[in-house]
Amino acid sequence: MAKTGSLTINSENIFPIIKKWLYSDHDIFYRELVSNGCDAITKLKKLEIMGEWQKPEDLDFKIEIITDSNEKTITFKDNGLGMTMEEVDEYINQIAFSGAQDFLEKYKDKANEDQIIGHFGLGFYSAFMVADRVTIDTLSYKEGASPVHWESDGGTEYEMEEGDKAEAGTTITLYLNEESLEFCNEYRAKEVLEKYCSFMPVAIYLSSASSEPEYETIEKDELTDKDTVIETIVEEAKTEEKENESGEKEIVEVSPAREKYKIKKRPVPVNDTNPLWNKHPNDCTEEEYKSFYRKVFHDYKEPLFWIHLNMDYPFNLKGILYFPKLNLNYDSLDGTIKLYNSQVFIADNIKEVIPEFLMLLKGVIDCPDLPLNVSRSALQNDGFVKKISDYITKKVADKLTGMFKTDRENYEKYWDDINPFIKFGCLKDEKFGEKINDSLIFKNLEGKYLTLSDCLEENKDKHENSVFYISDEKEQSQYINMFKEAGLDAVYLTHNIDSPFVGYLEQKNENVKFLCINSDLSDIFKEEVKEEDKEALKADAEALTELFRKALNKEHLDVKVEKLKNENVSSMITVSEESRRMQEMMKMYTMPGMDPSMFGAGGETLVLNYNNKLVQYVLGHKDGAHTNSICEQLYDLAALSHGSLTPEGMTKFIARSNELMIAMAEV
Ligand code: ADP
Ligand code: MG
Repeated sequence: MAKTGSLTINSENIFPIIKKWLYSDHDIFYRELVSNGCDAITKLKKLEIMGEWQKPEDLDFKIEIITDSNEKTITFKDNGLGMTMEEVDEYINQIAFSGAQDFLEKYKDKANEDQIIGHFGLGFYSAFMVADRVTIDTLSYKEGASPVHWESDGGTEYEMEEGDKAEAGTTITLYLNEESLEFCNEYRAKEVLEKYCSFMPVAIYLSSASSEPEYETIEKDELTDKDTVIETIVEEAKTEEKENESGEKEIVEVSPAREKYKIKKRPVPVNDTNPLWNKHPNDCTEEEYKSFYRKVFHDYKEPLFWIHLNMDYPFNLKGILYFPKLNLNYDSLDGTIKLYNSQVFIADNIKEVIPEFLMLLKGVIDCPDLPLNVSRSALQNDGFVKKISDYITKKVADKLTGMFKTDRENYEKYWDDINPFIKFGCLKDEKFGEKINDSLIFKNLEGKYLTLSDCLEENKDKHENSVFYISDEKEQSQYINMFKEAGLDAVYLTHNIDSPFVGYLEQKNENVKFLCINSDLSDIFKEEVKEEDKEALKADAEALTELFRKALNKEHLDVKVEKLKNENVSSMITVSEESRRMQEMMKMYTMPGMDPSMFGAGGETLVLNYNNKLVQYVLGHKDGAHTNSICEQLYDLAALSHGSLTPEGMTKFIARSNELMIAMAEV
């Protein structure tokens, strides 16, 4: 006699939620049903260890998933501990729903946070997100247990009776609704299983009821009693006629007669039941780390290095974090950190658990103490989650500082790749910044890597407490050369992140000033002006300023006249450090490609070299036929080497260059 009854849930409440849930993560029922199968097997294994159950010799624990696109069904089959009728009653008919009731309580005040819903698991009942009808056939491992058949149409009413399952375990079949037919497509199924189940601890096999069976051929000694032999292939011995040493012809056997078997292709599990993060770090080889990285992140570039996290106390956490090779020309530096709970995938990049700056890394983290049904708002206020996040940050900082101390060569080698990440970390996480502070290095003009105190030491006698830096190698090449000639050092800070990072460094090191090498010219480049020449220089400077302002038609142009040691330098443009930073800020806060000068950010000064012949020439020929052109040309040259001529400016520059050469050639 079948037992019938009404499910103890208020279906008016639960269904709107399930429907809402449908907006995101439709596919999560795969995770729930497969992980239930895994749990059932794990429980049986525990019973075996406790001596309460004896495993038959030939039993292999596994979960089978069979998609059938003709019948529109998906079947989940496990050989775990199964359920008695009482258990189905308790766990499926009642408990699951009271679990859902709890969920309802929690959910009440978060009704408009759509995206969180997918992170609540409704366990077994998630099947009703995609199926109209669900059946369970189960037989408990317990001696004398009778099989149970359970089914429900729509998830609000059920029917339960004695079934006919002969082996212990549970088979659940989903009869998909019309909107969810994609899930009985074998390829879609594989995709979803790879997402959620890639590392579940029990072998998972996926097959399709409708696809043709595949075969393979194996050698005789490879045959096991699990293989289904389709055909025995007999290969006869191969012989050849050969001459022996005494010149007689002889038949020689080249390959012996042998038997091969055509067998049904052995199924391959979709998952790796023992992921690398579970192994002890000492037992993992470099190649294993690299191939794991390739497999999980589909990244053909090798990771630079990695950190294997392995912690039992005070919480349980394992994982591997990889430092990927970042593409420096590309601004979006997005990594992936996959979060697992006992080898069951939860989600990517949960920022409450993984500090934001670590999102640039790629990695896996398995933490069995985290709730499977991660709700973001619950995580935010969770002290435990904060501890995890702090632990991960600390480990990353330890790895880096350790490398700086004991493996400086590699640390320097990786620096160009990892520095944006480290700097981002400093800006985002104070504790990380403090830890890493002494391990920050700077590449100088010779390509050597210096710490901040090394840098200060280098410039000590010439420029106390200042560090010169290059923000754009191409734009500042003229200055780089001047610096080299003068024996003055500078460091490269050319990444986007360096602009806010320079501010950070100044804040952390109060007396230190960072100056871009095209900011106001250092006295190092200048000749000392004798007291008696000062008056004349001042008058000439005024004359030159007026001359250039008129020639260039720039009324407010800032002009400085200096006696530079290198007489070949005629003109340069400098940008004061303050306006440079202002411009950087503008760039960050406005649309990329917008010209910051639109906002009136000037701060440019035209520096003319009093020691240069051309400068002297225009000074002596204020009304000369070519003077105007030379002035314009000097300005454009300075702007060019500063990396900035407008398109119209460039057109004029080229035309004028031609004219000047014609004049020179007197044609
Ligand atoms: P949870 O897994 O969080 O307990 P579920 O709704 O997924 O919640 O499952 C409810 C209960 O039903 C499980 O705790 C388990 O006792 C039982 N159950 C579900 N699926 C299986 C299965 N394949 N084999 C044995 N028991 C199962
Ligand atoms: Mg479950």
